[in-house]
Amino acid sequence: MQKFKRVLVANRGEIAIRIFRACHELGIRTVAIYSEEDKASLFRTKADESYQVGKGKSPVDAYLNIDEIIQLAKKKGVDAIHPGYGFLSENPEFARKCEEAGVVFIGPTASMMNSLGDKIKSKQVAIKVGVPVIPGIEKPILTDEEAHEAANLCGYPVILKASAGGGGRGMRIVRHAEDLVREYQSAKSEARKAFGVEDVFIEKYLESPKHIEVQVLGDNYGGLVHLYERDCSIQRRHQKVVEYTPAFTLTEEKRNAICADALKIAGAVNYRNAGTCEFLVDKSGKHYFIEMNPRIQVEHTVTEMLTGIDIVQSQIMIAQGLALDSKEVGIPNQESVVPRGFAIQCRITTEDPSNNFAPDTGRIDVYRSGSGFGIRLDGGNGFTGAVISPYYDSLLVKATSHGRTWEDAIRKSLRALGEMKIQGVKTNIAFLINVLNHEKFVQGECDTNFIAENRSLFE
Ligand code: ADP
Repeated sequence: MQKFKRVLVANRGEIAIRIFRACHELGIRTVAIYSEEDKASLFRTKADESYQVGKGKSPVDAYLNIDEIIQLAKKKGVDAIHPGYGFLSENPEFARKCEEAGVVFIGPTASMMNSLGDKIKSKQVAIKVGVPVIPGIEKPILTDEEAHEAANLCGYPVILKASAGGGGRGMRIVRHAEDLVREYQSAKSEARKAFGVEDVFIEKYLESPKHIEVQVLGDNYGGLVHLYERDCSIQRRHQKVVEYTPAFTLTEEKRNAICADALKIAGAVNYRNAGTCEFLVDKSGKHYFIEMNPRIQVEHTVTEMLTGIDIVQSQIMIAQGLALDSKEVGIPNQESVVPRGFAIQCRITTEDPSNNFAPDTGRIDVYRSGSGFGIRLDGGNGFTGAVISPYYDSLLVKATSHGRTWEDAIRKSLRALGEMKIQGVKTNIAFLINVLNHEKFVQGECDTNFIAENRSLFE
């Protein structure tokens, strides 16, 4: 085992702070990187050391400069780099270059990322091990004619997806053949701009599915467990807004089948570290694998509350070479993962729901947070005097509740949201309260169209 002394976090905001906390509890010294625009951001001060990167680069590019980040890590005697989510977290070249430089990448290997990181390849892995996928054509569409052929094979409506996609970008729903070429070209160009790869593929569009995903953890010795599922159906433009666990409307049989399929896919590539297998469940209750995310996810908090397992610490310990069944990681077998109660995460953002969720910026004049029994907050720049810049995503703080019953978890979330008072920038708090009060949410019946179909949430 290689005990890490120093870990660098190649990320910013709330997830950087989340990882620093995990490191500090493990007795590991932390190193932050920050851009010019993040000079005054809170996360910087939560690390033991911090260094500016990306001078002269754009605010986002500052966090994408592989060689500069690795060089800094070497210079500062860093043992390992945690990539968080977004930025370089799914970049196999970054993982490979870290290993080459003798710095441990806290995540799967570059070759695992290569075989799972893109949506087409991960569907191919699923097909190989007999896990159901959404009917489609698992290869990039190269011409307008191919687009027509593929769409006809699937049957309309279809969805075009960027193979390298993330955050809902590069996706287009097409209901009529006459719109196909236009949407195909626009998906391709969006994919090229956002991901540098223009590969787009086609699959059947499912009307109103639920998004169910399974957290997995694997070690370097073949140990592999799942930490149960999350329901992430409450989305806006294919981006998650509220997530919870368990997905209590699933039958026990369905839950077991989805979790078993997640293990099959992870097992097929000897997956190591934390990852998430995402599925859609259609109205008839059939489930289909859509992709695997080889990294920590924003919504990992609900699974931590459910199982009591610190996923970020587990990631670090696994990267140190500890086995799942070691005393330190403490997950000797699947039976030792015991779900308790219910957990809900609300993503509080600096966005204005009444203005099409336009990001708001400026100084936070008043910041009072909710807290108390059963509430966990994972924040970035949530404090009085903080300045919200336009350069990064608008996630301000994640409020996660944990209750003995579903109703208890909802009540705790609502109470905490009600206690929050943020002035100076607009937030989506009132909108989140409407979501949690909605009958469909209470019944656990929201599908991925819930927000788009319910204007009352905006009142
Ligand atoms: P990204 O990587 O951009 O987040 P995903 O493949 O994870 O994209 O899909 C995000 C969301 O898009 C899903 O949760 C779902 O709401 C919607 N989606 C994706 N594929 C389909 C499909 N075939 N039919 C219906 N909705 C889909």
